[in-house]
Amino acid sequence: MRKTVRFGWFSIWFSTKQCVTIVGQGCGFVEILPLAKATVCMYEHICTCANFVVASKLQSTIDIQAVLCYNKTMKCDLHMHSNCSDGVFPPEKLVQMAKERGVRCMSLTDHDTTCGVLRAVTEGQKLGIQVIPGIELSTFSTMEVHILGFNVNYQDEAFQQELAHVANLRVERNKLLVQKLKEHGFDIDLSKIKTTGTIGRGDIGREMVRLGYCKDSAEVFDKYLGAGKCCYVQSQRLTPVEAIQLTLRHGGIPVLAHPKNLHISFKEFEKFLRPLALAGLGGIEAQYFTHNTAERNFYTKMAKKYKLIVTGGSDFHDYAHGMDIGCKNFIPNGYTRTILGI
Ligand SMILES: [Zn+2]
Repeated sequence: MRKTVRFGWFSIWFSTKQCVTIVGQGCGFVEILPLAKATVCMYEHICTCANFVVASKLQSTIDIQAVLCYNKTMKCDLHMHSNCSDGVFPPEKLVQMAKERGVRCMSLTDHDTTCGVLRAVTEGQKLGIQVIPGIELSTFSTMEVHILGFNVNYQDEAFQQELAHVANLRVERNKLLVQKLKEHGFDIDLSKIKTTGTIGRGDIGREMVRLGYCKDSAEVFDKYLGAGKCCYVQSQRLTPVEAIQLTLRHGGIPVLAHPKNLHISFKEFEKFLRPLALAGLGGIEAQYFTHNTAERNFYTKMAKKYKLIVTGGSDFHDYAHGMDIGCKNFIPNGYTRTILGI
């Protein structure tokens, strides 16, 4: 049986009882999962520009309308940085920008610090935007791995003490990095770098651009500061498992950030993922802005296999690189919403 229902610029075809195809602007395939209708379930298929939501047992156009409206209102961006780490905008400004761009739920995930979270949460309450407390922990095993921590107890003293220890490791790394840059003829004074939080490689890179050593941050990382480049210094950092444990100890949900940046094959990825899942990893940032459709699908499949949530975001720092806030729609599915309380 094939039935077509028109909704806005979407056409919805019921091809079987278990499967619906939506075509139109932003076409995609939507799976109807066997859940009670009350439980709205989403299947994110990023084909061009749209995500679709389908509840089981859709009976009529009205149901579809309700579900699509719901979908449209759930734009989320769960990865961005403020000037409390290496972003350029203050936390309040990010919340305002999220609101302007129609984002309903966001998370501030500064590197190794939560110093901007309370400000973002407070601004979110003012503007009616849900702000999930977050952090992005830099870790290292055989490669650089970032672990996002959502809903951590950021006001807990013990958590802040552990973060202070992590920050100290970074300070030591920065000193060595500046020393290496000096050996290559670049004079960087850490005290002149303007940041309200921890200084990261991004800040040092911007300082090099400001001083005219390179034309942009991309060149700095390609030539000097990227992993394996001549001035790269691997700091004594948490391992991914330690970061997962740290997040769990403080009530957070640890999520593997931008898996594509690991630069490993799909096959190697599962090998890499398994021990992290066993250690308590809670999710994968499958909907990262640089992931193509095949990568989104693969990481989403892995998340399903290991019962992990799927998150997504813009990793917004500034306008110079990456995506604008909310630019790539991320619509959390029912499981993610339940776990994160969205
Ligand atoms: Zn990030």
